[in-house]
Amino acid sequence: MTEKTALSKSALANGLPTKEKVRQVRHSSRIELSQKVLRKNITFLKKKLGTHPRLSCVVKANAYGHGIDPMVTMLEKCGVNHFSVASAFEAEEVLDVCSPHSTIMIMGILYDEDIPWAIENGIEFYVFDIERLVTVRDIARSMGKPALVHLEVETGTNRTGMTEMHFPYALSFLRENREEIVFQGLCTHLGGAESLSNKFKMEQQIARYKTYLAECERQEYHPSYRHIACSAAVLAYPETHYDLVRVGVATYGFWPSRDIYFLHLQEVGKEKDAPMGRIITWKTDIMDIKIVPKGDFIGYGTAFQALRDMKIAVLPLGYSNGYPRDLSNRGQVLIRGKRAPIVGLINMNLFMVDVTHIKDVGIGDEVVLLGKQKNNVIKVAAFTDVANLLNNEMLSRLPTAIPRYVVK
Ligand SMILES: *Cc1c(COP(=O)(O)O)cnc(C)c1O
Repeated sequence: MTEKTALSKSALANGLPTKEKVRQVRHSSRIELSQKVLRKNITFLKKKLGTHPRLSCVVKANAYGHGIDPMVTMLEKCGVNHFSVASAFEAEEVLDVCSPHSTIMIMGILYDEDIPWAIENGIEFYVFDIERLVTVRDIARSMGKPALVHLEVETGTNRTGMTEMHFPYALSFLRENREEIVFQGLCTHLGGAESLSNKFKMEQQIARYKTYLAECERQEYHPSYRHIACSAAVLAYPETHYDLVRVGVATYGFWPSRDIYFLHLQEVGKEKDAPMGRIITWKTDIMDIKIVPKGDFIGYGTAFQALRDMKIAVLPLGYSNGYPRDLSNRGQVLIRGKRAPIVGLINMNLFMVDVTHIKDVGIGDEVVLLGKQKNNVIKVAAFTDVANLLNNEMLSRLPTAIPRYVVK
């Protein structure tokens, strides 16, 4: 992120185009994204949804670490034409790459000074207070172009969202200012749909959302899209589908939780069923190979001592490249289809793995850090279980500087 911003800023100062520079040299690792697996995920989600609700893919947090640029293009190839983001900054990234026919929706931060930009570019955004509605109306009026607004309402998460106290007035304000503000959506977020033990809370949230819909009925003024569902709700609560769904984590092939996965297995009645898959593979290459005599320490300090003669491989990335330091002495990578355990601490830009047991291993061999190689796989869970991270947390921390490649 910082690298890209810095680049754009210096490019601006020099009056050059702000497109990211094409690099001449290689980065220390790379991410591959599978178009084929993405298609499978989208097909599964669309089957769940049927013909009515529109699918919006959530590409916030650099598309959950996958890379916003490649993901938008890949998703458009799968027929997705609605993208949800957390900020105006991310919306601008989508705008740079998406088709002019796609819709962009900001669910989070949009500063006052960026409202004209959003309106100008037809970017939809959430509003959760009346003052903001007045500001938007005034700006839209001065621009002679309507704003596309989604009213966000409070249903029980106590994040952003207006309450019942303000909603009737907000709705009548929209009705009276329909020239300037298009009532594009009425939305809320279900906080915790991935955990079935939250079912009671979800049902309360859904019921509370319906009271806002009832007010729309009373005032006879309706949004184009009613939307409340995230991935877990799409899979576990069909009654939440309404007119649009905002699917993040499932787009990338991850079950929102074990609860939701087992619910799916129960529905299909099979012991194993993989209707979705991970689209990401993270790779690097062996930088060096060393023979370490018994008794020597490996890397910083005394974190690992060779208890026998060992052959180790040095890998050219570390915690500054998004590889969690918590995997020191605990994680594994794949080389020639075999597991190679990490030995010693994850350094800032290097770490070492034991390859004593891997025949014919050589400098330049491909290393899979995350994903499949031959018959083996390193799952995100291998990182998150050890490092006590959420899937989303681990993925979204993958630096934007790592190059992303689309593969079949
Ligand atoms: C992130 C987010 C989503 C998507 O959630 P997933 O669980 O990843 O599908 C949907 N709605 C809002 C408001 C969000 O912030």
